[in-house]
Amino acid sequence: MSDCNEVTEQLYEYLDRELSTEEVCEVQAHLSRCPSCFELERFESGVIKLVRRRCGSERAPEHLRERLLTVPRS
Ligand SMILES: [Zn+2]
Repeated sequence: MSDCNEVTEQLYEYLDRELSTEEVCEVQAHLSRCPSCFELERFESGVIKLVRRRCGSERAPEHLRERLLTVPRS
């Protein structure tokens, strides 16, 4: 079973659809029973959609990713 730290580490790859099917299932299983990771996933996916719409890019710029990773999580 994956824990919150693993899911958080995999979240960007998950959102970029870079994980294997098995890993995606693990992340989704965790999100379904962990409200805090679910909230994080919703937040991050919203940010990525905004970035894609604005830049027309498939991936968030690296500097933005780094900034997002330093956002404090409660
Ligand atoms: Zn969690």
